[in-house]
Amino acid sequence: MIKMDNNSTKIAVLGAGVVGMTAAKLMQDSLRNAEITIIADKFAEDTTSMVAAGIFRPGTSFRGRTKEITQKWMRDSWDYWQDILRSSEASNAGVMQVDGYIFSKDNYHVTRNHLMEDVVPLYRPVEENELKLCGEGFKYGSYFSTIKAGCDCYLPWVERKFTAQGGKLSKSKLESFASLTRKYDLVLNCTGLGAKYLCDDHDLVPIRGQIIKARAPWLKTAIYGDYDTYIIPGMDGVATLGGTRQYDSYNLNVCRHDANAILERCCEIVPSLKKADIVGHKVGLRPHRVPVRVEGELINSLKVVHCYGHGGYGVMCAPGTALQAVQLGIDLLKSNTKNKI
Ligand SMILES: Cc1cc2nc3c(=O)[nH]c(=O)nc-3n(C[C@H](O)[C@H](O)[C@H](O)COP(=O)(O)OP(=O)(O)OC[C@H]3O[C@@H](n4cnc5c(N)ncnc54)[C@H](O)[C@@H]3O)c2cc1C
Repeated sequence: MIKMDNNSTKIAVLGAGVVGMTAAKLMQDSLRNAEITIIADKFAEDTTSMVAAGIFRPGTSFRGRTKEITQKWMRDSWDYWQDILRSSEASNAGVMQVDGYIFSKDNYHVTRNHLMEDVVPLYRPVEENELKLCGEGFKYGSYFSTIKAGCDCYLPWVERKFTAQGGKLSKSKLESFASLTRKYDLVLNCTGLGAKYLCDDHDLVPIRGQIIKARAPWLKTAIYGDYDTYIIPGMDGVATLGGTRQYDSYNLNVCRHDANAILERCCEIVPSLKKADIVGHKVGLRPHRVPVRVEGELINSLKVVHCYGHGGYGVMCAPGTALQAVQLGIDLLKSNTKNKI
């Protein structure tokens, strides 16, 4: 743990999604006496983080500036979730272990995941008889063991911990960083897709995702198929059925054509879903950026660390990236630099 006992250090964390909440908590754990405020226009239910199933299964587009950085984010994130999973807090925090299959009729590479294979305890090719578990025609498959963090539990849990230790929350929308200069010694920018406007970042693009929430408590295993089809069981018996991956779409409305296609594809690989009650539909815009931006910047003498652009993998990788952002922030606080970094 890094300690910096400075009563007057004022830190703003912009964003109350999984990245901002996790970064604020990690910063609080590192700088016990700092005054930390989370500033966001949307909390809990209204964030993109709430749409995610929250499974630890990175896509190949997820990366930092170097392979080593990406691997460190993955490992630090895995350790963070494992610590919660092994604690008595696991169910309060919405963290559970989940095993899963990924099948493909078309392509062997779809079933491999180099980022995940390095971290999770089990990732193996399926046996011949397992290929028939989800119907005929599957040629390739893998079986893996991973974790899932549901933000419906995790966000309130981490928020409670943060405020119990003196952390503050402020609901407001920022139009620029200018209003924060002279009020804060450091700003962590965890605004997800909001950074597109706040930082004028053209590399940040939404990837629209639509999902169905269906009550299916008998499902215990996650299943992935071709064409972004996935079924992820939940702690409360409500499974997440997906999905869509629409690049550069800003449409936040539920599309009935997408919903029908998702249901049809999911029922094809898990027919028992036909009798599941549908409890809701959700849409979110994944903040996609390659690489994910974790770096410091001086904006008119304001010390800012950016941590955004996690795409479809922000729940699982929030802790690793947030940990690096916190470290960069502490380094910036210690430095006296007034020039551009
Ligand atoms: C359908 C779908 C399924 C997904 N499944 C998974 C999954 O299984 N596993 C996984 O790891 N990830 C998944 N994701 C991705 C994950 O949801 C995102 O990567 C993650 O939520 C990003 O978190 P964030 O905190 O950066 O952004 P957000 O949750 O969007 O939070 C951004 C915060 O910044 C605030 N903000 C923005 N701009 C401003 C401003 N100008 N002023 C004040 N506040 C501002 C917002 O109000 C909000 O509080 C999925 C996403 C979707 C859409």
